[in-house]
Amino acid sequence: MKPESFIPCNTSEAACRDCPLSTQLKCRFTSRDLFHFLIRAFGFILPAGIGLVVTGAVWAATLWVGYMLFFFSVWEIRILCSHCPYYAEDSKVLHCIANHGSPKLWKYRPQPMNRAEKFQLWIGFGLFTLFPLGMLINGKAWWWLLAALAGWLIFARYLTTRVCTRCINLSCPLNRVPKHIAQAYLDSNAAMRQVWKNDHKPTHPGGKP
Ligand code: SF4
Ligand code: SF4
Repeated sequence: MKPESFIPCNTSEAACRDCPLSTQLKCRFTSRDLFHFLIRAFGFILPAGIGLVVTGAVWAATLWVGYMLFFFSVWEIRILCSHCPYYAEDSKVLHCIANHGSPKLWKYRPQPMNRAEKFQLWIGFGLFTLFPLGMLINGKAWWWLLAALAGWLIFARYLTTRVCTRCINLSCPLNRVPKHIAQAYLDSNAAMRQVWKNDHKPTHPGGKP
């Protein structure tokens, strides 16, 4: 199945044309969304990584790259992405607007993320961000630190204003989809609707009831 033809909410292709949610959510995979995400992610990763290498902390750069491979291919996929409607696609790899291409080692879990998973997600993001920044500070690589910080701010702003406000992984602690839109999406997603009952109503924006 081609990624563009997969519809995470389980309705038909024709339904998308008239669906009011199509302009509110990133509910269909597009290469354009993926491109915009990657450009900004690498706006942080490249200056941070190059800064570590040129200041001699090659071991730290290697460790960080290894961590990213583990986090974005294994750990984050289990705690975050296995709950995402994009993960429901019948495929061996993920086709989505961020972790595109990661192997799907875990089963799909349409139910919301639990507290332990949300806690782990913060730990995982924290290590991804703070480790290279800390190492650049330790190596007094101020210009690289400045470039990495600028890249991180641009990336974080893009995520919080353009992605998390429209993302269909509704139980992610960063999700900021307005509650009425989240509810409308749940109503159109049969797999999620069955398990997000009563005590699993959308808890957004901001993860608050
Ligand atoms: S919510 Fe479903 S039907 Fe509506 S545009 Fe998105 S994928 Fe299509
Ligand atoms: S949570 Fe984000 S990265 Fe994971 S599958 Fe969903 S859209 Fe992709």
